Amino acid sequence: MNYTAKEIAEITQSKLIGNANLCVKNIAFDSRTIYSTTDTAFIAITTQKNSGEKYISSVIEKGINIIISEHKTDGFDDVTWIITPNSVEFLQKLADHHIRQFPNLKTIGITGSNGKTIVKEWLYQSLWDEFKTVKSPKSFNSQIGLPLSLLQIKPDHEVGIFEVGISKPQEMEKLANFFSPKIGILTHIGSAHIANFETENQLIDEKLKLFKDSEIIIFNGDNQLVYNKINELYSSKKLISFGLKNHNDLKITNDWKDRNTEIKISYFGDQFSFPANQRDEATLSNALAAIAVMKEFGIENTRIVEKLNNLKTVEMRLESVNGLRNNLIINDSYNLDLDSLKIAYQFINEYNKPKKVLVLTDFIEGENSDTLYQEVANLTNEQNFDKILLIGAEISACQNLFTSETNAFNSTSELIESLKLNQIENSLILLKGARKFEIEKIKNILELQKHDTVLEVNLNAILHNINVHKSLLKPETKMMAMVKAFSYGLGGYEIAEFLQYHHIDYLAVAYVDEGVDLRKNGITVPIMVMNPEQNSYSTIIDYNLEPEIYSFRVLELFCEQLKSKGVSGEYPIHIKIETGMNRLGFKEDEMDDLIQKLKSENVKVKSVFSHLSTADDLSEHGFVMQQINTFQRVTDQLISGLGYQPIRHILNSSGIVFYPDYQFDMVRIGIGMVGISYNPEVQRLLQSAVSFKTVISQISDVKKGESVGYSRRFIADEDTRIATIPVGYADGIPRLIGNKVGKVGINKHLVPIVGNICMDMMMLDIRDLNANEGDEVVIFNSNPTLEMFAESCRTIPYEVLTSISRRVKRIYIKN
Ligand SMILES: *Cc1c(COP(=O)(O)O)cnc(C)c1O
Repeated sequence: MNYTAKEIAEITQSKLIGNANLCVKNIAFDSRTIYSTTDTAFIAITTQKNSGEKYISSVIEKGINIIISEHKTDGFDDVTWIITPNSVEFLQKLADHHIRQFPNLKTIGITGSNGKTIVKEWLYQSLWDEFKTVKSPKSFNSQIGLPLSLLQIKPDHEVGIFEVGISKPQEMEKLANFFSPKIGILTHIGSAHIANFETENQLIDEKLKLFKDSEIIIFNGDNQLVYNKINELYSSKKLISFGLKNHNDLKITNDWKDRNTEIKISYFGDQFSFPANQRDEATLSNALAAIAVMKEFGIENTRIVEKLNNLKTVEMRLESVNGLRNNLIINDSYNLDLDSLKIAYQFINEYNKPKKVLVLTDFIEGENSDTLYQEVANLTNEQNFDKILLIGAEISACQNLFTSETNAFNSTSELIESLKLNQIENSLILLKGARKFEIEKIKNILELQKHDTVLEVNLNAILHNINVHKSLLKPETKMMAMVKAFSYGLGGYEIAEFLQYHHIDYLAVAYVDEGVDLRKNGITVPIMVMNPEQNSYSTIIDYNLEPEIYSFRVLELFCEQLKSKGVSGEYPIHIKIETGMNRLGFKEDEMDDLIQKLKSENVKVKSVFSHLSTADDLSEHGFVMQQINTFQRVTDQLISGLGYQPIRHILNSSGIVFYPDYQFDMVRIGIGMVGISYNPEVQRLLQSAVSFKTVISQISDVKKGESVGYSRRFIADEDTRIATIPVGYADGIPRLIGNKVGKVGINKHLVPIVGNICMDMMMLDIRDLNANEGDEVVIFNSNPTLEMFAESCRTIPYEVLTSISRRVKRIYIKN
């Protein structure tokens, strides 16, 4: 976009205060990820839950000089203000105006419950070299995300691919008012979004509103209800159904589960086939959606197959790994265009590293224009990198456009040979390159230790899982994240830092040391300590941690400590009520005394809580209700005695999904963040956030009658192949899953563990499998899942995760 402040105010009927001629090319809405202040306006978005207005002064400090807001903040009279009655509608009006300027743009709108982002990315990968294409960044598809995506359209774009998502009734109507795609795509419709829609019928009707003015609708026709509705409602449009069922226009005609054959497809009777590595329903349906669109754009079958082979199965991921010499490496070598560069610059703003280094290659995909490298340099110069390393002839020719200390190289290997990389220390290193340059080689050189065995933690999945749980709650209900025991084994401050960034209200740890560790790593969110050991009270106070007080003994000792340290003011504490678990807590008959004591001490009860002992077991409904009723009664008494209202909370993850009516003021999420729910409806919506994996060290042919491992517990019953992997009981794998009790995954197949598990290794029988040394082995993630793995260990996911030893390297992934 490119408008003056005056034009924007006119288009959106807003009030303008200040310089009418300022130019706006970008609108930023998240103060933390502003990567450029040039021609950028900040919009303070006000929603039910949050208001961006509290960040206005900080963005002005960063150098932004146009603010769009519902209210003018006092002072700041030298910046330009655009005052609108409703910030969300403002964006929608502006997007509406903007998209009308491009009547010839071929717009594609993708909606559906699952698969929107991957279909969008795949369409982009399929179309960008045929047409000048713009797409929604990340999964920007909401009432705010969609307009921001549309504002990216420029005059030379030929195709625009946008995601459209809704979570409540009536939302699509609003979106369809300003975005009416020429080609509508409906991906998979899952079971109704539990919280907000009454029936599947209602959900489908709402989604279909997007297509009211579409010329073509491409839809997954496997759901009979969807199929019938579209055919009834939109019979006058061009309809193309795709899916695995036979009635679809675009379908698979052979047995796609048979790995030995290619996938054969038929498009209105026109037949062709393509190879596919990944054969699950969701992936194939998404591929069919991409095929239907390519067909619609007149792409030849042979080209379509070529493009399908090149699709990248992973979503765009920015991977962060610890490097040598205290560097932090952010690796983004998925694709390189201006938009993804902006996203990477936003992303690195989330880290606090004193120095920043950039490795950047030629842009070979898409937009190649004379002004491209000038634009890249302008954007890059605003980021203040301490050092820039350029790779490739084109970008090297523009070296003098960059204002930081810059070196240029013709190839990745030339850079590696120069040994420049070895001089970098204490820095954040962003690796941003087009595929062709293989800059992941640089990552391998810079990485701390190359470990074959890793626990990979997907932070975005954690956020997604939190949001799924939040969708079951009232917007004002607070959330405490349980990060005890090294965040259930996933990591200490890394998880807490991510949660803090995403505005978690509270954190809770088991022991003081865990809390101190978080504070030392810059975590400022309030932290509750559940097991404040009696020798640790002084440390609790020094680090501003908040103890759980569960008995008079603890209360007295803690108050003594407060006095002896001369702490003034009321110190925050949390009162634990015993309601049926019989672990820790004050009992009902202690309330009168407790109230007296609390009123006489220098403490402030921040929260009062209890813990459910069987929230995951529906057959114990009666007991749960008894606990909840006790909690209600006891806390009513406590609150009226205290004369003020602490935060009340009793639900853990299972409580949230089964008893949302009793959310009180806050809930405590734990295992739900990891992607585990005991409610199958919710489980389907969650994403696995942890993946424990390794690689095959060696494969041996073992003859019939030979034995494997300690004590010869496996004897081959016929000639077979044995794979050894470098994970053993010292890594946290229980010895009891040896000898064919447990299985792990190789190339999506489950293979049995044979023989006794060793301290650092174990052996697998891979007799029928086509596997090689160095191949990836999944201990758990999607197959086997963490639950399946825990079951074979005869325990629960909690114990599996917290048993994984510290020597297993944790790596963190963010989109
Ligand atoms: C660990 C813990 C939780 C979280 O439980 P999940 O089942 O993992 O959600 C909640 N409350 C308390 C007191 C806990 O100790």
